[in-house]
Amino acid sequence: MNYDVIVIGAGSMGMAAGYYLSKSGKKILLLDSFNPPHNNGSHHGETRIIRYAYGEGEEYVPFVLRAKELWSDLEKSSGKQLFLQTGVINVGNEESDFIQNIISSSKKYSLPVDIMDSKEVQTRWPGFSLPNNYIGCFEPTSGVLKCEESIQAYQELAEKNGATIITYSRVRNISIKNEKVTILTDEHKFCSEALVVAAGAWTGQLLSMLDLELPLTPVRKTFAWFHADEKVYHHTKFPAFAVETSQGMYYGFPSIDGAGIKVGRHDGGDPISPDESMLAFGEVEADKGDLENYLNKYIPGIQQLKYGKTCMYTLTPDEKFIIDLHPNYSNVAIAAGFSGHGFKFSSAVGQALSNLIISGKNDVDISQFAINRFK
Ligand SMILES: Cc1cc2nc3c(=O)[nH]c(=O)nc-3n(C[C@H](O)[C@H](O)[C@H](O)COP(=O)(O)OP(=O)(O)OC[C@H]3O[C@@H](n4cnc5c(N)ncnc54)[C@H](O)[C@@H]3O)c2cc1C
Repeated sequence: MNYDVIVIGAGSMGMAAGYYLSKSGKKILLLDSFNPPHNNGSHHGETRIIRYAYGEGEEYVPFVLRAKELWSDLEKSSGKQLFLQTGVINVGNEESDFIQNIISSSKKYSLPVDIMDSKEVQTRWPGFSLPNNYIGCFEPTSGVLKCEESIQAYQELAEKNGATIITYSRVRNISIKNEKVTILTDEHKFCSEALVVAAGAWTGQLLSMLDLELPLTPVRKTFAWFHADEKVYHHTKFPAFAVETSQGMYYGFPSIDGAGIKVGRHDGGDPISPDESMLAFGEVEADKGDLENYLNKYIPGIQQLKYGKTCMYTLTPDEKFIIDLHPNYSNVAIAAGFSGHGFKFSSAVGQALSNLIISGKNDVDISQFAINRFK
């Protein structure tokens, strides 16, 4: 079967790319090893934080502001509420790069951020207990995206525009000859003029087939839901949060739809192969204890563990994304290495991948995500 563009991986980035490509009227095929949204990659767990004054660096802000506009477009086109404006509070030592980047991002891009000392944070949200030398940067316009529902929304719209999605169809081989792409799955052969590779933790394996070795390291991550008092932690009363402690960087979500509070640790994680069956939450002794120690210290009102899950991050050495054309094939666009903070950008990444395939460039600057920085 022949297509204009094949997208390998219909997860966070690939499904959004499929949607934007489908709007161009081209014949699009998306292939996925599973049936997205699913629990085997990096996009499950119901919710993802979106924040705009960006602790990882102010250079991300124009791209995340584009993502914000596109999330709002997706809500309008799909008729679904995918964003909850809970606000996000970022907490840490005033001197830390994370906090300083938030402050400088908010100044440079005139983003509303309330800076408060630890006492003010605790007065406003009695659920927190913070050391005196921490400060809080509260961004009221930010909040929570429903990640799995967002992927579903992109899928429905892409299919409506005529895109084909084949699930449980793992790509086993890719070859390119005279700019023609040939893809083999266990059952089929597909050909196309152009290709998008957005296969999350599996991207490294696939790109090796196109003679490209990228420094991508999949790691095992855990997160868990805890019983929480709805009077204090309901999402209309408590914000999403990122807390940089001396032990590590933790993030979490207020209780949404009675789910309880969800927390995870951002830094660390053991390298794994994405095909290896991962130890379940709790099979590693530290899984539960680490989150409980964090909660006891910083959010002490939280009670019993409900349940936990595992997920994968795909790290790059600088924890910046890779969004670029293949250095040897101008008809292959790549999105990978989202290093545990990519979901909020996925609307803008999808649009950028589509733009790269159609015109070779994106209107929002993505040069910081170029492959040649690893040379
Ligand atoms: C626990 C956790 C919490 C996170 N919290 C946040 C957050 O709060 N905010 C935020 O912005 N980001 C967050 N992230 C990061 C974000 O979720 C990821 O960056 C993002 O989901 C990565 O998207 P992806 O498209 O690269 O991968 P995925 O969404 O995993 O998609 C890759 C797809 O490719 C498919 N695939 C792989 N190989 C093949 C093949 N050979 N053939 C066919 N299909 C294939 C897979 O089945 C999968 O569906 C979090 C991640 C985790 C794990």
